[in-house]
Amino acid sequence: MDAKRRLDLALDASEIGIYHIDLRTGTICADARYLAMLGYSLREINPTLDWWRSALHPHEVDGANESLVELINGDGERLRSEYRMRHRDGRWIWVEDRARIAERDEHGQPLLIIGVHIDISQRKRAEQKLAYQAEHDQLTHLLNRHSFLYSLKRVHAESQRTQRPYCIAMLDLDLFKQVNDTYGHLVGDRVLSNFAKLLRRSLREADWAARWGGEEFIVLMPNTEADQAQRSMERLRKTLATARFGMVEPPIRVTVSAGIAESSMDDRAGDEVIKRADTALYAAKHLGRDRVCPASACQMA
Ligand code: GH3
Ligand code: MG
Ligand code: MG
Repeated sequence: MDAKRRLDLALDASEIGIYHIDLRTGTICADARYLAMLGYSLREINPTLDWWRSALHPHEVDGANESLVELINGDGERLRSEYRMRHRDGRWIWVEDRARIAERDEHGQPLLIIGVHIDISQRKRAEQKLAYQAEHDQLTHLLNRHSFLYSLKRVHAESQRTQRPYCIAMLDLDLFKQVNDTYGHLVGDRVLSNFAKLLRRSLREADWAARWGGEEFIVLMPNTEADQAQRSMERLRKTLATARFGMVEPPIRVTVSAGIAESSMDDRAGDEVIKRADTALYAAKHLGRDRVCPASACQMA
């Protein structure tokens, strides 16, 4: 087998698309695999640099373009970047682009760039899934404790800067052990997951909700004062009190207790606000459950 045939077969097996850019004309000479990756066949389009830019995802268009400009004007010989390109059918394909300068004129100006495109969509999807799993609770799909604390850190710093308070609500489902004892753990899990949906729906876009652990949840409301947070949690409490979880007969009824704390400029970190919300939650339980208790009114607990 001659070397060219061997290379062709190897490239075909690897599904790597090859291209070169003629910098004098701005035209791209792309092979069949490069075009097929985006749903086109040879002779169907005449790719140019403008076409390439127009096919880039808005999130990556600047970065991808800057990498190319850097390769043309900078000292480096090679480019390696990852970006999405629009497939003919409208979906986005993640592409790894590896290129190098192939030819320069007598003044050292690049004339030709040669590179390859590798479809890395599958790898990107797997990475995104892993990142999602690292940040979210598997059962409820709310944030997990770790990523909640990360958001809290940022919201706390922002609040110190703008001198606008935020609120934290700690929630705990009432007598949840009875739900498990009566209907079993699997039904308990479904109630938790349905409660999480209800919670998410009752919040504003800017609020953060997380599963703190077990049947405990936490909500972060940026730019919010205590009475506003109180109204929001009270609405949720009432909705839950009238909701029926119909996975068994008769439908399950669940109530929630919540403690609310507003940040103050004296708080050194979000943990201090969490502590006050937790104390207020304890008071709400103590006072008979199915209620929302603001930290300011719950000092006695
Ligand atoms: P209280 O009103 O005082 O909060 O009473 P409670 O029964 O909710 O409190 P307790 O802390 O005694 O029990 C919490 C229960 O929540 C016990 C545990 O089985 C249940 N639980 C915690 N995590 C999960 C979970 O992931 N799935 C299910 N099904 N149940 C859970
Ligand atoms: Mg609990
Ligand atoms: Mg409980």
